[in-house]
Amino acid sequence: MAFVADADAKTQFKWKMVTAWPRNFPGLGSNANLLAKMITDMSGGRIKVKVYGAGEMVPAFEVFDAVSKGTAEMGHAGAYYWKGKSEAVQFFSAVPFGLNAQEMNAWLYYGGGHELWKELYKPFGIIPAPTGNSGVQMAGWFNKEINALDDLKGLKMRIPGLGGEVLRRAGGTTVNMPGGELFTSLQSGTLDATEWVGPYNDLAFGFYKVAKYYYYPGWHEPGSTMEALINEKAFNQLPKDLQHIVMTACKAANMDMISEYTARNNQALDTLVNKHNVKLMPLPDQVIKTLREISEEVVSEVATKSAEAEKIYRSVSTFKQQVIRWSSISEQAFYKARGI
Ligand code: CA
Repeated sequence: MAFVADADAKTQFKWKMVTAWPRNFPGLGSNANLLAKMITDMSGGRIKVKVYGAGEMVPAFEVFDAVSKGTAEMGHAGAYYWKGKSEAVQFFSAVPFGLNAQEMNAWLYYGGGHELWKELYKPFGIIPAPTGNSGVQMAGWFNKEINALDDLKGLKMRIPGLGGEVLRRAGGTTVNMPGGELFTSLQSGTLDATEWVGPYNDLAFGFYKVAKYYYYPGWHEPGSTMEALINEKAFNQLPKDLQHIVMTACKAANMDMISEYTARNNQALDTLVNKHNVKLMPLPDQVIKTLREISEEVVSEVATKSAEAEKIYRSVSTFKQQVIRWSSISEQAFYKARGI
């Protein structure tokens, strides 16, 4: 477009941000609002970003296409929703037994991950940027105790993505449905179990009223990354300073989400356990061990789907092998040293 060269400090840009979340949804929708506000405020109003909740402009699962086509200049979602575009997208959201939030950011910003992500979205005319991380999620809500692998057999559980495939191979029946339907499905017995996010979001949905056992850790989503999707043409029309503002705001929003989840999960967990008498339980070691073995199989199979998936898998696996050495003598050793 002609005004690329003409864009200057006076040019105003009106951007639409479509999201995969209900408007103002705690943590996720609120992060989209924050990102839009930061871009608008930091640019002194030179870019005005208006946020649309899921379904307001396009449905949640059409965010990617809307940004790709330029119907919206920005999107806010999770990369694993776009599996239909490429299996490789899953490496940029959540990998069972994969990287945690800190390690994920390290891979993306300093381990070549973000560059690979940009390459993957390039054919769609989209620039991706990490814009939030939930941290380690919870394994989920169950209506019975899980004492052995056999307890997973025939279990009807809502668990999306690669984790869902792992549970299926462990003998469960996996179902995917939007968050808004989970409560009634658990209540009616359509589901025996569900995962969602963590205490902060799970308390808001009231799962403690319909399932008794709350299991940890979220082996299937150890550090789920949320993404900002930016239409490449719209981005290229911005003067350099505004481009920096957009990308820096994404970084700030990324840091904000993990901080918010850590603080709010902690408060919500206290409410769940002490006010609602939720039974907080660890998954048994043997169950975790089996899920881990199946996960290795499932994740490495994704690498065989395409050359790009193989390249990304190689990058993230190599990074994981290296960072584990450091994490074990830093975070892990420190948590142990700090005690309970
Ligand atoms: Ca989840």
